[in-house]
Amino acid sequence: MRVQFLGTGGYHPNERRQTACIYLPDLGVVFDAGTAMFRLPAKLESDELTLFLSHAHLDHVVGLTYLLPAIGEGRLRKLTIYGTGQTLAAVRTHVFAKLTFPVMPDFDFRPLEDHSEVRLAEGTMLTHHPLVSHPGGSTAYRIDWGGTEQSQAKSLAYVTDTTVDGTYTEFLQDIDLLIHECYFSDSQAKLAIKTGHSHTTPVAELARQVNAGRLALVHVNPQDESDDPIDIKTARSVFAETQVAEDGLMLEV
Ligand SMILES: [Zn+2]
Ligand SMILES: [Zn+2]
Repeated sequence: MRVQFLGTGGYHPNERRQTACIYLPDLGVVFDAGTAMFRLPAKLESDELTLFLSHAHLDHVVGLTYLLPAIGEGRLRKLTIYGTGQTLAAVRTHVFAKLTFPVMPDFDFRPLEDHSEVRLAEGTMLTHHPLVSHPGGSTAYRIDWGGTEQSQAKSLAYVTDTTVDGTYTEFLQDIDLLIHECYFSDSQAKLAIKTGHSHTTPVAELARQVNAGRLALVHVNPQDESDDPIDIKTARSVFAETQVAEDGLMLEV
């Protein structure tokens, strides 16, 4: 399963990172619609997509307005959008308000409350879990596949806009690839907790605790454009298989 990181920054784009958008071309699945969404049409491998929104903050949804050319050209024929009822309502009411964006594309909105799991392909299931420590809440997603005689069981999870608060640990047990936000380094731990975001050591400890295979950090502080925004040495001292994802990174699970 290929995982393409289109946008790995938090809050606002900078010269190095666009905001949240991750593409799984083998499934036609996208996590979040941040500013990096403008990169998706050129990479599309199918004309149908299923998008899962973590929440409705602008850095995760504004990219929904960047899809009209691909829709007009027929490269994107169908977009199904999952999110909590309140996230979808916020998108419809505010992002696509007449005075904000004049066209409401023909998206298929599906509230997560109606789906305890979503079947993405034969033997490939998505589950979700609420994240409660971010203002307005967010949603974590997990995909499991394989586990048959022919193929090994594999999994990945996307967890963003949350503090590591112990409420979703079990949901991530034995995950092969954990994609988790890490907005701040430990030096800004207080600010992380105040804003409902994560900092380095608790994220690395979580990866170790759930027996993750690998940890890819996203949603890093856009005001830090250095090569080491989260103090990777500290992260790896806790969980060795940690990397900070960059825009354009492709991982294979
Ligand atoms: Zn965010
Ligand atoms: Zn947020």
